[in-house]
Amino acid sequence: MDALAQLKELTAEIIDLRAAQGLLGWDLETYMPPEGAETRAHQRSTLAKLSHQMLTSETMGNLLKTLRKQKLDRIDQALVREVAKEYDRETKIPVKLVQEMTEVTAKAHPIWVSARKDNKFSNFAPVLEKIIDLNRQTTKVIGYQDSPYNALLDLYEPTLTVKQTDTLFSALKKDLVPLVKAIQESPKKPDAGFLRNKTYPEDKQWEFTITVLEAMGFDFARGRQDKAAHPFTMGMSSRDVRLTTRVFKTDIVSALFSSLHEGGHGLYEQGVDPALARTFLDGGVSLGIHESQSRLWENLVGRSKAFWTYFYPKLKKLFPKPLDGITMQQFYKAINTVEPSFIRVEADEVTYNLHIMLRYEIEKALIEGDLKVKDIPAVWNKNMKSYLGITPPSDTLGCLQDVHWSHGSFGYFPTYTLGNLHSVQFFNTAKKQVKSLEDQIAKGKLLPLKNWLNQEIHHHGHVELPDELSRRVTGEPLNSRYFVEYLWAKYGEIYGIK
Ligand code: ZN
Repeated sequence: MDALAQLKELTAEIIDLRAAQGLLGWDLETYMPPEGAETRAHQRSTLAKLSHQMLTSETMGNLLKTLRKQKLDRIDQALVREVAKEYDRETKIPVKLVQEMTEVTAKAHPIWVSARKDNKFSNFAPVLEKIIDLNRQTTKVIGYQDSPYNALLDLYEPTLTVKQTDTLFSALKKDLVPLVKAIQESPKKPDAGFLRNKTYPEDKQWEFTITVLEAMGFDFARGRQDKAAHPFTMGMSSRDVRLTTRVFKTDIVSALFSSLHEGGHGLYEQGVDPALARTFLDGGVSLGIHESQSRLWENLVGRSKAFWTYFYPKLKKLFPKPLDGITMQQFYKAINTVEPSFIRVEADEVTYNLHIMLRYEIEKALIEGDLKVKDIPAVWNKNMKSYLGITPPSDTLGCLQDVHWSHGSFGYFPTYTLGNLHSVQFFNTAKKQVKSLEDQIAKGKLLPLKNWLNQEIHHHGHVELPDELSRRVTGEPLNSRYFVEYLWAKYGEIYGIK
C-alpha cells in the first residue's frame, strides 16, 4: 500500500473514534441518566487517548514526512495539510502540559460556577491566572509570529491573525457604536412583551420547528432533532447529524431561533461531499464559517420580512390565542428588538458583536501580557459603558458570565463575529446568484437558498481555508462593510433612523 492509502486508512480510524466520542457527548447532553456521568467521562477520555496515540504515532510521522515531499492532487494535498497541522500541534505540546491543562480546567469549572453564583471574581482569579499561564506556555511551544494570541486564533480559525482581526473589528466598532446609540435614542420602540409573557404550548412549538427545518431541507433520514439545555449540533458524518433545541412554554422565540440556528449548522454537515466521509476534510472549514451558516438561517432568513410573509400565518394558526391581534409587522419588529443588555447570549444582532469585541480585547491583552487578571472587572465594566452605554451591576452579569475561560478556551470568541460578518457577505452573493431569492423565501421556498449553499460552500467540506472560500464564493476577502450596511438598512427602517 502506498503512503497516501496508508494515511487515509489510519486517519479514517481516527475519525471513527472521534465520531464515537461525539456521539457519546451528544448522548450525555440529551438522554444519559445522571448516574452515567462518571463512567461516561472514562469512556470519552479512553477514546480521546486512543485517537491521540494514533495521530501522534511514529507511523503517522513517517507517512507525513513521505507525503510532504510528494506531488499530490488538490484534495489530497489539503488532506495532508490538515493531518499535518494536527500532528504538528499535538506532537509539539508536551504531555505534561496537556495533563496540567486538563487538571486545572477540571478544577476551574466548579470554581467558576460558584464564583459566578456568589458574584466573587476574586475566587475565580487565581485559577484563571493559572489557565492563562498554561495558554501562554502552549503558544510558546506551538510557535507564532507577531502575537502569541495568533497561535490560539489559529486553533479555531486557521490562518486568522490579530492584525486582521484588529482591522475588521475596529472598522466594525466605529460603525456599530453610533448605530446602537441612534437606536437607543429613537422614540420608536417595538413592543416585544407578548413573545415571552404568554403561553405557547410546547408540542405546538416543537411541531413548528420541524415544519421550518423540513422547509429548509434538513434531511430527517440523515439526522434528527432532540432537546438539550444548551442547544448544539453534532455531526458524526453527513449521514448522521444531530440537532438540539430547547422549548420554553412562555417563550415563543427560543426554540424557533435555536432550531433555525442549529439547522444552519446541520445543513452544512449534511451538505459535505460524501466522498470526504471518514477523512479530515469532512465537516466545516472553521468555526467562523460554520457560524456563518447558522447565523444566515437564524438572522438573515429567520428574522426577515420575507420569511414571515409565508410563515407568520402558519404560526398564527398554531397559536391563535396568544397571537390574537398581533400583525405580521408587529411580530417582525418584536423579533428584531435592539436593546443593550449585559448577557452576550441574549444579545440581539446589532449589539452582539460589541460583546465579542470586548472579550477579544481582554483576551488578547491577557495573552500578550498587557493586562493582569485582577484588572479584568474594571476593564470589562469600562468598555461595556463605552460600547453599549451600560455598566453591569455585578461581575455575575459581567466578566463572570461566560463558561469559555474556565474551559481554557482562548481565541474562540472572535469566531462568533466572523460568522456574523461572513453570513451577510454570503447572503448578498446568494441574492445576486439565485433568481428572485427573497421572493422565493416569501413563498416558503427555502430550497433554492439551501441548494446554493450546498453547492458553493457545504459540498467542499474542509478542502479550502476560510479566506480562500470567501474569495471564491464572494469574490473578495471578508469585509465588515456589508454587515454594517445590512444593519443600517434593516434597523434604520424599524427604528426610523438614518
Ligand atoms: Zn452556532
